[in-house]
Amino acid sequence: MIHHPKKYDVIIVGGGHNGLVAANYLAKAGKSVLLLEAQNQLGGATTSAKPFPEYEANLSRYAYLVSLLPDQIVTDLGIKFKTLDRAVASYTPYRRDGVEDGLLVSTHWDRPTAESFRRLTGSNREGEEWIKFYGEIAELARRFAPTMLQPLKRAAALKSEMGLPEVWRNLMEIPIGHVIRDRFSDDIVRGVVLTDALIGTFVSADDMQANRCFLYHLIGNGDGLWRVPQGGMGALVRELHRIAMAQGVEIKMQSRICSLESGPMGVRVGTESGTYHTAKDLLFAAAPQFLADLIGKPAPQSLEGAQMKINMLVRRLPRLKSGIDPSIAFAGTFHINESYSQLEAAYLAASNGEIPRPLPLEMYCHTLADPTILSADLIEKGYHTLTLFGLHTPAKLFDADPEGTKALATEQALSSLNSYLLDPIESVLAPCQENSLAIEVKSPLDLEKDISLPRGNIFHRDLDFPFLDDDADGRTLWGAETDDAHIYLAGAGARRGGGVSGIAGHNAAMAILAKS
Ligand SMILES: Cc1cc2nc3c(=O)[nH]c(=O)nc-3n(C[C@H](O)[C@H](O)[C@H](O)COP(=O)(O)OP(=O)(O)OC[C@H]3O[C@@H](n4cnc5c(N)ncnc54)[C@H](O)[C@@H]3O)c2cc1C
Repeated sequence: MIHHPKKYDVIIVGGGHNGLVAANYLAKAGKSVLLLEAQNQLGGATTSAKPFPEYEANLSRYAYLVSLLPDQIVTDLGIKFKTLDRAVASYTPYRRDGVEDGLLVSTHWDRPTAESFRRLTGSNREGEEWIKFYGEIAELARRFAPTMLQPLKRAAALKSEMGLPEVWRNLMEIPIGHVIRDRFSDDIVRGVVLTDALIGTFVSADDMQANRCFLYHLIGNGDGLWRVPQGGMGALVRELHRIAMAQGVEIKMQSRICSLESGPMGVRVGTESGTYHTAKDLLFAAAPQFLADLIGKPAPQSLEGAQMKINMLVRRLPRLKSGIDPSIAFAGTFHINESYSQLEAAYLAASNGEIPRPLPLEMYCHTLADPTILSADLIEKGYHTLTLFGLHTPAKLFDADPEGTKALATEQALSSLNSYLLDPIESVLAPCQENSLAIEVKSPLDLEKDISLPRGNIFHRDLDFPFLDDDADGRTLWGAETDDAHIYLAGAGARRGGGVSGIAGHNAAMAILAKS
């Protein structure tokens, strides 16, 4: 047993991007900070890795696109990290009356998008409704985003401040499934809209949890656009680490916390290796379920993680049955078998214990926007990375036979994808040793084992709406506070956490600084 004599101002548990953001804000404000990370690398769900030893391809292993990270955090901390725009928002291949086609949506509405909607739906109505629907949300996003870095407001006050009661009602008060059915009539268009409500969220379209997920996917940084992290997600972590070092943050790896005591004088944590550290305050930037466990409280409400993450390296992009240029189809989010009725059917099948068939999934090609994650040699040869995210595969389906179910789910993901490809994906995957192919698959159980996401929940726990109930007391709250005056939540599981945003880290740091 080793007791470190130094008493820090703040100990941070967890070196994911939120823990690092919090550490940097606190150190910048002159606090002494110790950050303890369980693994031997920083980043948590925002790491990059080279999963195929034969190739110099540095993929965003888990999280892959950025929308929620506010420019203010980037500026405040001096992070040298760029995100790149995608000209294509999405492409959804479909087969109607024996003809292969696809719904192409540009990031900014244009003629090809309008034509694409017309070909699918036979009129301009659905496209016009799309412009109106997303225009309303864009206005809300613009007004809403700055509040994410301010103390929490009560629902009624924020609703009135936003000044868009109808949009507020659609997003916060009635099920998003209802709104989508009301506003759109085409099954594929409805499905493309619904996907934003289901990423990492295993619910039906009419569950209010889907609304929370939808909101987080559309208000990021004031425009809701999803951008490509230049250099991969690990580039963000490298920058946060560099700044932390420059600010004097002490970082200890392989320091998994296994005990936590709190008293009037502060906190004391113990690591698995038997080392103890003390501080005035503690920011818990790992999942709140582990905090609950450490302090003997009930775990917070949490759905199971329900996604397959599949990372691939291909020799060239596969051609599509619809004939569209693959460099357009895969530049944005490529939706496969994600019509509204398919998503609802997949939810039902998975609830009944089956891997959905066809498996709804989405995919995008990082290297079309940012080839820098590949070596010059691979770029020259035309290699690309593909990032696939399969929906509605909850952790419980994997419990009885984790590897067998993973193999089955992978087979169904590839078969779902192949139904729209002229070149089956297996024919373009880069070859690896021992006749294997360059494909890495992570099930929800892998996410729990590899990066401590409880049951694979990518947001740690259920997302909350980013405001307080109207009957909350008059205290200033940042969404980081717990029942213990010395312990704060600083990770995705805090209110307004979830996703690659740094918001939970920022807000927890503000709660501490406000105290002093
Ligand atoms: C497959 C996948 C894809 C995703 N895609 C996106 C995306 O494209 N865009 C997006 O915005 N979001 C995405 N997300 C969600 C997003 O990545 C996470 O919500 C976010 O990164 C969480 O960050 P965090 O810093 O709060 O926590 P984490 O990244 O979970 O970091 C917590 C850290 O705490 C450490 N830790 C755990 N327990 C202990 C302990 N007892 N002691 C010490 N350390 C401990 C962990 O090792 C980890 O490093 C994705 C997530 C996954 C898994």
